[in-house]
Amino acid sequence: MMQNRFQRQVFYKMLKNWPHATEFYEEVDRLNLHGLHFQHIALCERRAWMYLHHINFAQWYGKVQTGSAKHAASYSRDRTTQSLFGLAPDRIDWENRVVYENKGTAGAVDASNDQTAFYAVMLSLTTNLEWRAVTHILSTRRRREVPLDARQLKRLRTSLERLKLLTSMEKPPEARRIRLCAACSLAGFCGFD
Ligand code: SF4
Repeated sequence: MMQNRFQRQVFYKMLKNWPHATEFYEEVDRLNLHGLHFQHIALCERRAWMYLHHINFAQWYGKVQTGSAKHAASYSRDRTTQSLFGLAPDRIDWENRVVYENKGTAGAVDASNDQTAFYAVMLSLTTNLEWRAVTHILSTRRRREVPLDARQLKRLRTSLERLKLLTSMEKPPEARRIRLCAACSLAGFCGFD
């Protein structure tokens, strides 16, 4: 649903006064996080752990054989706007201040919203301007505006805390079968293939 101008202004004002803004930005920067981390953590912690540690299924076997899976994330200190997008959003409309993310289908709404909202929030924090987030559903060619509000901000902050915890874990969380497993590239690793 489209957010009206008033709702967007309310959110932007909230963001400007957000007491966690500096901490959020700095932690994202320190851990070198980007939008996909926020999508993965909403879908599956185990998958998020693998992504955080840059480990795919094949690499995992090698790591297990040598004893441990070391944290391989690089801790970039680059603070330019460009640095926010290790994996860039699909499109940024700088003129109208809208960030777009393409998705094949309309599913996993919260996880998909988290990813796109993350970019809009980071852009708003770094530019001090109001940004909108839109998911482009490729299968239906529809656009879905991501509601930016207190709930979304809380989701992002909670996800950041969970991601921080995952970065400190030497091993991935236990596998728990969920619907996503059927389509997940890590299914073999988790024993769900
Ligand atoms: S197969 Fe399932 S449990 Fe394993 S990482 Fe994928 S979604 Fe998570």
